Amino acid sequence: MRQIALYGKGGIGKSTTSANLSAAWAEKGLDLLQIGCDPKHDSTRMLMNGRVIPTVLDVIREKQKDISVSDIVFTGYRGVRCVEAGGPEPGIGCAGRGIIATFQLLEKLGALKGDLIVYDVLGDVVCGGFAMPMREGYAEEIYLVTSGELMSLYAANNIAKAIARLSANKRSSVRLGGVIGNGKNIVDEEDLVSEFAESIGSRMITFIPRSPTVQQAELNKKTVVEYAPESSQAEVYRRSADIILQNTTFHIPTPLSMDDLESLAYRYLKE
Ligand code: ATP
Ligand code: MG
Repeated sequence: MRQIALYGKGGIGKSTTSANLSAAWAEKGLDLLQIGCDPKHDSTRMLMNGRVIPTVLDVIREKQKDISVSDIVFTGYRGVRCVEAGGPEPGIGCAGRGIIATFQLLEKLGALKGDLIVYDVLGDVVCGGFAMPMREGYAEEIYLVTSGELMSLYAANNIAKAIARLSANKRSSVRLGGVIGNGKNIVDEEDLVSEFAESIGSRMITFIPRSPTVQQAELNKKTVVEYAPESSQAEVYRRSADIILQNTTFHIPTPLSMDDLESLAYRYLKE
């Protein structure tokens, strides 16, 4: 069983990318579990054809006990099992706690299983709770999703810092599997993201271009892989899923200083 986590800045495309990768892996016959670790609980929506599934925290609040797998695990596209951790009421409580409670409950129910578990995690590392999937040894393979925008690279670099810090602990097997470029139509973006990845001691494992097909699929409440299976964008997601599946190269990252990160981005800035 491989446990993969996608981390990245808010709004960068983690949920879109992870849902499409999960759909592509499921098409290959793999047994998938996708866990949305974001209080917004919209990670699995496209896999569920728009259905907003109850979050684990909501179910815990309502039922308290006698919770069964079918209360919190829902079957979506091609059998992908979908879970949303959920979060506290806005403004109160700790969002990270929802993630912890979700993992503990899934483990207790024996539902943390499959060929691949995909964690879709918020990446503006605001509290240790969001580092949970990697900190507690659940996700060992981390992929950073970033565009060429400075703030997106900045968030990716911060997560690289968290990985580096955690992997200093000999018991931790968390490693960086690579950087996933998700395009924002910035000039020379692919080269910039690739250079960023190499400068933190990793590599850009795939680059996903910006495409209107993503919005069309979203409006039709489907992943691109399901909505437009013949499209070039679906092909990109399938190819990316294959590359990640075959990946055997993992690194302890060497994050950049803020100055180095800025000068890297600055060099690509075209007037
Ligand atoms: P959050 O941190 O808020 O959970 P996220 O990182 O999960 O955000 P998404 O919700 O996946 O980001 O994507 C944000 C928006 O960007 C969505 O409307 C999605 O359709 C769009 N998007 C993501 N990737 C692409 C792409 N390659 N081409 C076009 N649009 C994209
Ligand atoms: Mg998301």
